Amino acid sequence: MGMKDEHGSDRNTKKSFIYYYIIVMVIMILFNALTVPWIQSKRIVEVPYSSFLEMIDQGQVKAVYRTDTEIQFLAESGEVNRLGEKIYGTYKTGLWPDDQLLNRLQENNVEEYDQAIVEQMSPLLSFLLTWILPILIFVFLGNFMSRQMQKRMGGGNAMTFGKSNAKIYAESETGKTFQDVAGQEEAKEALKEIVDFLHNPQKYSDIGASLPKGALLVGPPGTGKTLLAKAVAGEAHVPFFSISGSEFVEMFVGMGAAKVRDLFKQANEKAPCIVFIDEIDTIGKKRDGGGITGNDEREQTLNQLLAEMDGFDGRKGVVILAATNRPDSLDKALLRPGRFDRRIPVELPDLSGREAILKVHGKTVKLSDNVDFHGIALATAGASGAELANIVNEAALRAVRMGRRTVTQEDLEESVEVVIAGYQKKDAVVSTRERKIIAYHEVGHALVAACQTHSAPVHKITIIPRTSGALGYTMQVDEEQKYLMTKDEALNKIATFTGGRAAEELIFHSVTSGASNDIEQATKIARAMVTRFGMSDRFDMVALETVTNQYLGGDTSLACAPETSREIDEEVIRIVKEQHQKALDILKQNENKLHQIAAYLLERETITGEEFIEIFNREDKIQGLPG
Ligand code: ADP
Ligand code: MG
Ligand code: ZN
Repeated sequence: MGMKDEHGSDRNTKKSFIYYYIIVMVIMILFNALTVPWIQSKRIVEVPYSSFLEMIDQGQVKAVYRTDTEIQFLAESGEVNRLGEKIYGTYKTGLWPDDQLLNRLQENNVEEYDQAIVEQMSPLLSFLLTWILPILIFVFLGNFMSRQMQKRMGGGNAMTFGKSNAKIYAESETGKTFQDVAGQEEAKEALKEIVDFLHNPQKYSDIGASLPKGALLVGPPGTGKTLLAKAVAGEAHVPFFSISGSEFVEMFVGMGAAKVRDLFKQANEKAPCIVFIDEIDTIGKKRDGGGITGNDEREQTLNQLLAEMDGFDGRKGVVILAATNRPDSLDKALLRPGRFDRRIPVELPDLSGREAILKVHGKTVKLSDNVDFHGIALATAGASGAELANIVNEAALRAVRMGRRTVTQEDLEESVEVVIAGYQKKDAVVSTRERKIIAYHEVGHALVAACQTHSAPVHKITIIPRTSGALGYTMQVDEEQKYLMTKDEALNKIATFTGGRAAEELIFHSVTSGASNDIEQATKIARAMVTRFGMSDRFDMVALETVTNQYLGGDTSLACAPETSREIDEEVIRIVKEQHQKALDILKQNENKLHQIAAYLLERETITGEEFIEIFNREDKIQGLPG
């Protein structure tokens, strides 16, 4: 993005060129006043009249010119050049009433003598030549250079070395408005206030309110933080400086701080405006006392940022937005009132949010009439805005591959699976026996899920291998948005995860490595139940683990004694074992259903939730185990 805000930058360069003109003037004055006469006086040696006569008598004088005020003459200087020729110097002397001069010149064979007709230059012309012309030349050069510099400024040239690379987005360039951001109503509400402030600050100052200087957008990756910031710029119609935290971290020490300084200087000049610092965690990390880690550079940058944020006047209309997905790692000083005191959560979208995001992105593709975004939104619990945008795009690509002109529901459903599990592996050769194991494994999951009351309905079962390595999978889709998970639901989830392995054991009396992902998931839930959700009687409501980075994978760190840690493990093992046994019991009771559905799946490769339920309910209704 190049510079677009022509007026602002013009003012900026004009200002610096005023200095340029002043310097030029000073140099010219000095030059005219001192240098020129000095050079001239150096070159023409003044001698007494007597010496002049002497030099004529000795035949040293070559030419004589007489003006109204003096006599100038060329005479041997007494030196020779490298070729042995005499060097002549220019001399001058005063006028002396001397009638004999002409005779003397003739006698001594002076080659040339003349009364020079010095045309006195008109004072006006000489003034023009010595003052006005050079100034005009310098002005012209200056303008030319300033134009060149402006041209280069966008391209990050050496001329801009040490300047911030903050890009200025004009609204036409971000082209985003709040309408492009779906499902983030709270965040939009908070940002609308800022936009309103930039439009009519008077309204706020009248009542004595001052808006927060900075707002921090916090949330997992791909939820639309950068998009929101761009939308604010698009709505506010003010200059928008955008810089990414990583751009501050430069190779040269001190550059980061210089960039911060420059960024804020620019922003202050162009207020009202918005400064957006993306991925602020790269510079805003907690300063540690360690000192040996060599993070001086980053700390300097951070300190400069803190100082600048304190230094500017919030009422002037500079609003600072920043985005991060690691708020816990930010330095506390950044978060205190007067800096980023307003925190705007940008969470993963819920059901209606996902539907809205799909609709926003659906507008850019041609949809056929059967498209039902609600169904897709149901199937994509936990997906971020970026993933949903990707799903719509994948669907459009698939439609093109299939030679269709519009995107169908089928395209969307398939692309959900592509995003979850990767592309279908067309050439994968799976032996008959392995296919059978996979089919029973998947039906095992589905049956256990279906036989429990607090379990999401089965949406789809497939044994088509995927590029992600999944050999088959069972998709469960909740019928509505879930914000909480009860203890029963958690236990049922674990049972469902163990259902695949349980089916293998029951039918083939052997186990395979195919359950590794299930094992991981089941353990994760069981562990969270014990250490974070307070769902075990043994530990009651004691937090044994804390989540360290909530928005990036949710790593946890243990906070308990080693003995407790062992007890946690025991408790986790107990929970998983219990659910595994429950799954086995369910499958034993429904063994004939297991055979029926697995046979159907082997034949079709993919069965839908309806087909599954149809076979499941066909004759004898099986009573599920309680809870
Ligand atoms: P973040 O900065 O939070 O990591 P981005 O703002 O870069 O995420 O989002 C990436 C892309 O995902 C956006 O360009 C947009 O296409 C899509 N997207 C994300 N969130 C939303 C949303 N709430 N509404 C519409 N599109 C979204
Ligand atoms: Mg981003
Ligand atoms: Zn499995």
